[in-house]
Amino acid sequence: MTETVIPILDLREHRYRSMASGIPAELVPPTGLLSDRRGRPLHDLRISVTDRCNFRCVYCMPKDVFDKDYTFLPHAELLSFEEITRAARLFVAHGVEKIRLTGGEPLLRKNIEKLVEMLARLETVSGKPLDLTLTTNASLLARKARALRDAGLTRVSVSLDAIDDTTFRRMNDVDFAVRDVLAGIEAAQAAGLAPLKVNMVVKRGVNDSEIVPMAAHFRGSGVIVRFIEFMDVGASNHWCMDEVLPSAEVVRRIDAAFPLEAIGANYLGETAERWRYRDGAGEIGVISSVSHAFCGDCSRIRLSTEGRLYLCLFATEGHDLRELLRSGRSDLEIANAIAALWQQRTDNYSEQRSDPAIRAARAERKIEMSYIGG
Ligand code: SF4
Repeated sequence: MTETVIPILDLREHRYRSMASGIPAELVPPTGLLSDRRGRPLHDLRISVTDRCNFRCVYCMPKDVFDKDYTFLPHAELLSFEEITRAARLFVAHGVEKIRLTGGEPLLRKNIEKLVEMLARLETVSGKPLDLTLTTNASLLARKARALRDAGLTRVSVSLDAIDDTTFRRMNDVDFAVRDVLAGIEAAQAAGLAPLKVNMVVKRGVNDSEIVPMAAHFRGSGVIVRFIEFMDVGASNHWCMDEVLPSAEVVRRIDAAFPLEAIGANYLGETAERWRYRDGAGEIGVISSVSHAFCGDCSRIRLSTEGRLYLCLFATEGHDLRELLRSGRSDLEIANAIAALWQQRTDNYSEQRSDPAIRAARAERKIEMSYIGG
């Protein structure tokens, strides 16, 4: 494969490869069944639609890096809605059943409802509607929830790191109020975007005092709160192991206030471990990428805003799908290039994180979460 170094600024200075040489001489139509080298199917596509966000969460887009001089991608670099939909159709032909739109903040992408409408027309290999969802900070959700639902969005996940207003404003670092996020959540529920999930990234010593209040606030509301261990995504979030509060401790604290029992996964490869309240007030999830790696079932591929594919959230190298989409290649050629890429995948960073040598080798080169989505 040809290796190219990106000639642009700052944190996007990681490597990417051309995919053209991955197109085999003999082309085979997709069968809906594709496995990587560990036997993991391709099930879940995450599409970043913008690298911009109106928050500056300290673990994701810290202000000292993403300041007024930071250069975001120009519009011509972004995949168009037509290109995204074409790519999505090829992934669906390979067996993808779930598509999540991410960012940056995906609701900042102009006319995002239009893209949702285009993607919602796709059907899985077995003829079912896609599970079409989106992760948002909810700052624009109160305004857009109804239109997104009407366009065919199935559900949403909202990022909210504290229910205490002062803590939340400090974490988003742009003084955004909790009540405005809650208004977005209510609008999404009213529009029928269900089940609604709230994602809370837990940083020890920063917002871990919010675990039980978050659980208390959303118990009985139909909202599923998912507590996510603070991860070493990217190179700019100043991660250190001391700030990771293991999920077992999250469960212990909530269980002491509101007794819990474990329940099974909804499907193979689900990232969250599920627990329900014994009194019937709903469920929570914990996502333990650090303390309990789930690479063994990982069926996710990520498409960046400007059309690069990443086989892992902690990848240091992308694969240039946009080049294929813009170079007159046929759907069959591109589908075969995608198949060739997935079939050689071995990624399992979370299983390797405890090895200091591997962590150090990747430390400066991992892609940013704001670039690829979570
Ligand atoms: S570390 Fe990479 S391979 Fe492992 S679960 Fe996360 S995204 Fe998947």
